[in-house]
Amino acid sequence: MTDAVRSASGAGDGLRVAVVGSGLAGLAATWLIGRHAEVTVYEAHETPGMGAHSVRLSGYGEAPLVDVPLRVFTPAYYPTLLALYEQAGVSVEAVDYAASFSRLGGDTYFVYRNAWIGGRSLPWLPPTMLLDGFTRVIAREVLRLHRRGVEQMKSGRLAGRTLGAYLEAERYDPAFVDGFLLPAYASVCTCSTEAVRAYPADVIVGYFCSGVTTLGVMRAIGGSDDVIRRLLAPAGEVRTGTAVCRIRRTPDGVYVADDTGRVDRYDHVVLAAPADRGAELLEGDRALRDVLARVPHESSRVVVHHDMRLAPRERASWRPVNFIVAPERDAPMATIWLNEVQPGLASAPPLFQTWNPIVEPDPATIVTEAVVSRPVVTLATRDVPARLAALTRDPDRRIWPVGSYAGEGIPLLEAAAASAHRVAAALRPSLARTG
Ligand SMILES: Cc1cc2nc3c(=O)[nH]c(=O)nc-3n(C[C@H](O)[C@H](O)[C@H](O)COP(=O)(O)OP(=O)(O)OC[C@H]3O[C@@H](n4cnc5c(N)ncnc54)[C@H](O)[C@@H]3O)c2cc1C
Repeated sequence: MTDAVRSASGAGDGLRVAVVGSGLAGLAATWLIGRHAEVTVYEAHETPGMGAHSVRLSGYGEAPLVDVPLRVFTPAYYPTLLALYEQAGVSVEAVDYAASFSRLGGDTYFVYRNAWIGGRSLPWLPPTMLLDGFTRVIAREVLRLHRRGVEQMKSGRLAGRTLGAYLEAERYDPAFVDGFLLPAYASVCTCSTEAVRAYPADVIVGYFCSGVTTLGVMRAIGGSDDVIRRLLAPAGEVRTGTAVCRIRRTPDGVYVADDTGRVDRYDHVVLAAPADRGAELLEGDRALRDVLARVPHESSRVVVHHDMRLAPRERASWRPVNFIVAPERDAPMATIWLNEVQPGLASAPPLFQTWNPIVEPDPATIVTEAVVSRPVVTLATRDVPARLAALTRDPDRRIWPVGSYAGEGIPLLEAAAASAHRVAAALRPSLARTG
């Protein structure tokens, strides 16, 4: 570290905390800790990370914001996120997230709608679809996994097994496995079909059986803009466009060096960068670095565009989410029909957000695009959240990892929020002493 060391900005005698990264985990940590300590947020992007790829559309009346990627959640699986949003005043609304499944360049073989009945979102199949044997097999296997998954999880039959091995052992029909489950979960986990097969079975089955199919899906009405504005409110300072280069623990605190050449001392650092990046930043703290370095990631592409060729061939089959499967590709394509998901776009010309475009959209129709990266979970890395939780029980700990990889389950917004919650709880005694 250079000699240009400063004590981070902050008034009073409160603890000084740096939050490195402003995806949902960093935002949640800022919200939870920032009311009791002087928090400085670092973000490598020019804007807060959760909205770094979002785009404001012109020529659509109120210029709606389209989040890239679009993020939805469900009361079934996101208790921590929903509680956080409620406390912070983030308004949420239910959205229809019904789906279709088609072959690349071919027919739609499975499609459903959602009906809201008694506060529940109940999927139903158009009766004509049930004439198709393929559709009937998928519907039957969906019900079987719902029925048996929970009881098999409870009895420990899924423990230590990959999803692929479990589905094979239970002889699930390939029409369901390759035509429905793997494409849907490659999209939920933003990874290749092989990586979904290698996920721990209980992680995927736990999500599948959580009630997501009946409790419906929600979005933040104001998108990432509103989430960011509210969760960053308690921050003392937000340094966007400032990448942290090194984090070093010493007996008198934690030193954070950034790419402007500045070095600041903090009492604690919340490490909210992705695990692989976080591991590279740490100087010392070998125990934490070793755990972070084990987390595998996969990269892919998201494109916002107007090209209808990336939606199912028949317009009658378009649903809010449209999976297009090509057996020779390593992942499906998932096209979200944004007009159906964002009320502000209801009367606009068709606009899509496609993850993994296996058909390249016409460049003239592209609004924006981004390369994204997601952590994936394997049997070998299943223990990462527990190992991180164990590290955070160390009374001398000053560097605190948070992120979607650091919580249990699929690395989604819930795991990111839950990991921030855990760290804020661990820091509470120190904050109370100095607050
Ligand atoms: C296509 C796609 C669709 C998704 N859909 C959903 C969904 O519908 N629902 C859902 O729950 N989740 C969804 N997710 C997952 C969700 O986006 C992630 O779980 C969430 O963004 C993770 O937040 P995080 O804070 O852990 O990490 P990140 O969002 O990765 O944030 C890390 C931040 O750290 C910053 N950073 C990195 N290095 C440095 C550095 N050296 N200095 C300063 N800053 C740094 C990065 O710029 C970034 O802003 C989706 C993801 C993708 C890719």
